[in-house]
Amino acid sequence: MDLEQAKKLGKKDWHKLASKIKPETRNFIDGKFVPAKKSRTFESINPVNGEVIAEVARSDASDVDAAVKSGRKAFKSGVWSRMAPRDRMDVLYRFANLIREHAVDFALLDVLNMGKPVSDMLNSDVPGSALTFQFMAECIDKIFGQVTATAASEFHYIVREPLGVVGCIVPWNYPLMMASWKIAPALATGNSVVLKPAEQSPLSANLMAKLFMEAGGPAGVLNVVHGFGEETGKPLALHLDVDKIAFTGSTEIGKLLMIYAGQSNMKRVTTECGGKTPQIIMGDANLDSAVNYAIAGIFGNQGEVCNAGSRLLVEKKVHDEFLDLFTKRAKTVFQPGDPFDPSTQMGPLVTKGQQKRVLDYINIGKKEGAKLCFGGGVPKGLEKGAYVQPTLFAGVKNDMRIAQEEIFGPVAAVLPFKNIEEAVEIANDSLYGLAASVWSKNIDTAHKAARDLQAGVVWVNCFDHGDMTMQWGGYKQSGQGRDKCFESMLLHTQTKSVWIHLE
Ligand code: NAD
Repeated sequence: MDLEQAKKLGKKDWHKLASKIKPETRNFIDGKFVPAKKSRTFESINPVNGEVIAEVARSDASDVDAAVKSGRKAFKSGVWSRMAPRDRMDVLYRFANLIREHAVDFALLDVLNMGKPVSDMLNSDVPGSALTFQFMAECIDKIFGQVTATAASEFHYIVREPLGVVGCIVPWNYPLMMASWKIAPALATGNSVVLKPAEQSPLSANLMAKLFMEAGGPAGVLNVVHGFGEETGKPLALHLDVDKIAFTGSTEIGKLLMIYAGQSNMKRVTTECGGKTPQIIMGDANLDSAVNYAIAGIFGNQGEVCNAGSRLLVEKKVHDEFLDLFTKRAKTVFQPGDPFDPSTQMGPLVTKGQQKRVLDYINIGKKEGAKLCFGGGVPKGLEKGAYVQPTLFAGVKNDMRIAQEEIFGPVAAVLPFKNIEEAVEIANDSLYGLAASVWSKNIDTAHKAARDLQAGVVWVNCFDHGDMTMQWGGYKQSGQGRDKCFESMLLHTQTKSVWIHLE
C-alpha cells in the first residue's frame, strides 16, 4: 500500500494492522539479520500503554566490530564505493521509492515505538525520508574535482573520495527521518555505514536495511547494530577503523563523541545537537499567523523536536493579545490522544522517563516564579501512557532554567521584550544556536534580526519551512555539521591532491 492509500486508513485499520506486526529485531550485518553475539536483548516499549512490543538485539563491542568489519570489507571491494555514479543513483532512487511503498510499515513501526501521530508519519516523516535519498542520489554526479593552474611542467588535480566506514548514531524523535538524514549523504558518496538507532526507537532501521538490499544495495554497505549508548554507541565511536561519526542527539553526548574521536583515531565527527529556539514576534507582525506557527512550533511532535520553538519572545505591546490568542487556539489543537487515530496531532512522549523529565521541568518553572497559563500535568484518562499536556508559561525570564535548558517536550515559555535590539540579545543569550525566527512586516527589522541572530537557520514570517537545499545545522553548542543539503555530501568525502610532474 502506498502513501496515498495509507492516508485513507482509519483508526481501526491502524490498530488491526498494528496487532499483526512482527518487527525484525536482530542486527543487520553483511547483508543478513543476526542476533547479538551474546544473545542478549532489551525490551522495546510502546509509550501509549507501557506494553512490550519486541525484544531487540542488545549489542556490545564485539557486534560493533563485526559490523565495522563488514562495512570495511564492502568498502575495500569497491562494490559500492567504486560503483558507477549512475548505478549508485539508481539504487538510491529505487530505495526512495521502496520507502514510499512501505509507508504503512514505517508508520506502524515508528508510531508503536515512539508514539508520534500516524498522520505526521504519512505527511512528513515517510515522504521526507524518501525525498532525502532522492535528493542525495540527484547530487551524486554533481560532485566535481578541480584542476589548478600550474607551471607547464606540472599537472595538479584534486579529487573527492569517500571516507570509508561511517558510524551513524541517531536519536529517537524522528527514527526514520533522522536515520535517513545521516545515512543518505554517507551512502550517496560511496561510504559504508554502520547505523546505531536510538534504543528507544530501534524498529524501523531494520526495515530500511532490508529495503536497501531489495533496491540493489550490496551486502555489507549498510549495517545496523542495536543497543544502548554506552554499550553500542561508545565502541562504535571509539572504533579504530571507523572514519567518521555522523551524530544527531543531545549536546552532552555530542561532546563525548568528540572526546572519543580524540581518544581513538581522530575520526571526523559531525554533530547535530540540541536547541532552545527563539521565535521573535514583533508588534507589527501578522499575529494571527504567528500564533498558529508558534503553537505548531512547540507542540508538534510533542515538542520533541531539536528546533522546537520553545522560547516565544513577544513585543510588550502585543504580549497580552498574543497570550490570549495562543491560549484560546491551543485548546482546540494538539490535544493528546491515540497516535493511531489519523485526527490526533499529539501522542505520548517517547518513554515514562522522558515524561518525568518534562514534568520535573514544569515544576522547576513553577518554583522559578513563571506563571503557568495552561497544562502542566498528565492528561486525564491517559495516565497509562507517557503523556504530558501541552503547557504554556508566561512571565519567563531568560535566566530561568526553563528558558535556558532544552526540555524536549510540549512546554513553551513566553518572554516579553521592549524592542528588537533587546529581543535579539535575549535570543542570543543561549548556549544553543540551532534555529530562530522573526515575525515582522518591517523589512529592515527582519533583515537586521536575520543578520544578528546566532543560529544556523533563521526563518522570517514563518517557522519550520524549508526543503532539501536548506543547510540544517547549528551555531554554538547546537553542533557543527550540516544535514540535508549538498554540503552534507561533501562532509562525507575527503580531498586528495594528485601532483604530476610532466617530463
Ligand atoms: P541522546 O544524545 O541521549 O542519544 C542519541 C544517540 O546517542 C542514541 O542513539 C544513544 O544511544 C546514543 N548515545 C548515548 N550515549 C552515548 C555514548 N556514550 N556514546 C555513543 N553514543 C551514545 O539524544 P536523544 O535523547 O536520543 O535525542 C534527543 C536529543 O537529540 C535532543 O537534544 C535533540 O535536540 C537532539 N536532536 C537534534 C537534532 C538536530 O538536527 N540538531 C535533530 C533531532 C534531535
